[in-house]
Parts: sequence; C-alpha cells; structure tokens
Amino acid sequence: MTLPILITGGTGFIGSHTAVALAEAGQPVVILDNLCNSSPKVLERLAKLGASPVTFVQADIRDSAALDALFARYTFAGVIHFAGLKAVGESVAQPLRYLDNNVSGTINLLQAMDRANVRRIVFSSSATVYGDPVHVPIPETATLNATNPYGRTKLMCEDALRALHTADPRWGIAVLRYFNPVGAHESGLLGEAPNGVPNNLMPYITQVALGQREYLQIFGADYDTPDGTGVRDYLHVRDLATGHLAALRALDEPKLLTINLGTGRGVSVKEMVDTFARVNGVPIPYKLGPRRPGDVAACFAHTQQAKTLLDWEPRFDLARMCADAWRWQSMNQQGFDTPL
Ligand code: NAD
Ligand code: UDP
Repeated sequence: MTLPILITGGTGFIGSHTAVALAEAGQPVVILDNLCNSSPKVLERLAKLGASPVTFVQADIRDSAALDALFARYTFAGVIHFAGLKAVGESVAQPLRYLDNNVSGTINLLQAMDRANVRRIVFSSSATVYGDPVHVPIPETATLNATNPYGRTKLMCEDALRALHTADPRWGIAVLRYFNPVGAHESGLLGEAPNGVPNNLMPYITQVALGQREYLQIFGADYDTPDGTGVRDYLHVRDLATGHLAALRALDEPKLLTINLGTGRGVSVKEMVDTFARVNGVPIPYKLGPRRPGDVAACFAHTQQAKTLLDWEPRFDLARMCADAWRWQSMNQQGFDTPL
C-alpha cells in the first residue's frame, strides 16, 4: 500500500494543483489547511477532477495537538509544506503575524514530524530570497538577501531546515525556490482566486480582461530591460506541481536539496500583456505608471540544478499559461463561489 503524503496549504493555489498531480501519479493525499486564504469548495473541484478521495483536515500548522493527532492517525511518506501567508505588502504592515504563521508554524510542523519519525519534507521557498539579484539567470548559489518581511520568513525557514539537516542527516529536505507561478488547471476547475485587489500581474490581467478592472497599471517602464518593463520568470502552476513530485522522488534517500523552479526565460510585463491579448483575443488596456517600491528590474532562474537533480523541466509555454489563466477566470467570475 502506498503511504499518503501530507500537503499543508493544500486547498491553496499551488497546493491544490499539486494534489491533482499526486493523485494522477496514484499517490494518496491528506490535505491540512486552516482555510485562511482558500475556499473549502476547492475540495469539490478536486473531487470532480478525480483527485478523490482526498482526505481533508481543517487545522492550523501552529496547533501541535492537531498535528500530533494527525500524525498518530496516518503514517505519512512525507510532507509537502505550502501553508503560509504570502502577501509582501501585508508582511510589511504585519511582520509579527508573518513570523508567527510562517516561521513558528514551520518549526511547529517540523517538531511534530520529528516526534512522528516522518523526516521527509518539500518546502515552498521563493525567488524573493535572492532580493535584488546581481546576475541573471540566478543560480542557487547566489547571495541571499530578502528585502521584505515575507521574504525573510522564507529565509528563516530555509536556515532552520539547513540547520536541521546538519544536526540530523536522517532528514530528507527539498527547498524549492519558486519563481512566478501562473496559469491554471486546463479544465478551468482550479486556479488562483485572490482576495481583493490582486497584487500579482497575471490575476490583475485576467480581471482587466473580464472587465472587472478598467486597465492594468504597469509598474515602471524605465527599467534597464529590453522594453523598460520588469522581467520575471513565469512558470505554469501545473509544471510547478510536477516539480514537487520530482522532489519527493529525489528524497528517496535523505539529503538536502535547494533548487530553483522556473523556466529560465525572462518575460517582460509588456510581453506578458501582448501574449495574453493575442492568445485569448481580448484587449488588455494598460497605463504606464511609476515603479512599485521594492521591485527589481529582472529576476529569472538558472535551471540546471532542477534538470540535473530532479530530472524536471517545465512543459508549458507562456501562451499556454495565458490561455489556461483566462479559461479559469472566464469560467469562474466569482472564483470558487461560481456554481459548477
Ligand atoms: P495560497 O495562499 O493560495 O495557499 C496557501 C494555503 O495555506 C492557503 O490555503 C491558506 O489557507 C493556508 N494556510 C496559511 N497559513 C496556514 C496555517 N497557519 N495553517 C494551515 N494552513 C494555512 O498560496 P500559494 O500561492 O498556493 O502559495 C503556497 C506556498 O508557496 C506559500 O508558502 C507561498 O509563500 C509559496 N510561494 C508562492 C508563490 C506565488 O507566487 N504564489 C511564489 C513563491 C512561493
Ligand atoms: N506588475 C505590474 N502591474 C501590476 C502587477 C505587477 O506592472 O498590477 C509587474 C511588477 O512590477 C513586476 C511583474 O509585473 O515587474 C510581476 O509582478 P508580480 O507581483 O506578479 O511578481 P513579483 O514582482 O513578486 O515577482
């Protein structure tokens, strides 16, 4: 019998797509989420996609008793740890909340895993740990220098995981540094459903496309990039999901892996807007505005480690990311509250 994998934050954007990828690979999954940034309706969508039975537990990663009860009930083959808060601006306004949720929560989870003798974890880190990179593409060996409280919570968790592996080499740990996950499940049943005004580019574009917002404000057109707008490494969330499967497989033996997950290709805001409009036949009105404080000019991944150590490469191109994001948004104008 295949032992289940625990996915914390599994009703969220990346976690739900990863649950599907694991189910497709015949891997049983238990999701733990406190639903602070996701909808329980995600579970109905997962069931529709055949990712069932997915067992769901509503709990907080900071709740030791709940974690101990869960680890007593199941023997997990490992944990994929997505649960966390992720809004940079909010982290500036509420640093203690971010430290408590992301750092204390992760330490609490690691302690519960240790007590239960489950020592295999895949951790969601972020390219934000590189701060303002000196060189692009960014290798995993680049200097780490998070410039906001959210990014620092990721660095603190990474540090804790590295220290843990040094202290106890029985741990298998994959620190995955995601670049910019976008897109949605091709069925239109799963996607990104941000609360309020989206911070990120793709959900903002899809809301403009829908007419829910009048125009996109492009944050800065005077960067030292080919067209002056910011450059990022967008990758399809379905590809990101399979990266987690590859990481779990690579942790068959205890080791510490630190790996970028991106496409290695830099895409400007203007290229993204043009591609979205062309692929979907929907105009995206935009205005050029000032830079957003804290933004970097260009950030994209060096991808060799992912190829070598995980045998993983993304499959989906930018056009596909735009098509899937638009299918999701146009089919779900009220997000997960849209009736099926
Ligand atoms: P998300 O908000 O959609 O998913 C996170 C999930 O964690 C949510 O369902 C939320 O309810 C849950 N959660 C938060 N705190 C919790 C707690 N204390 N206990 C239990 N559940 C809790 O975010 P996402 O985009 O799917 O991101 C998943 C992870 O990947 C996060 O750790 C995030 O920091 C990281 N990440 C995301 C991006 C991105 O652009 N989306 C980029 C890099 C890294
Ligand atoms: N961006 C923009 N308008 C928006 C949101 C984002 O021009 O409404 C730009 C932003 O300045 C950056 C890129 O789009 O150059 C990606 O931003 P996002 O917040 O999605 O990712 P991050 O900056 O965190 O990598």
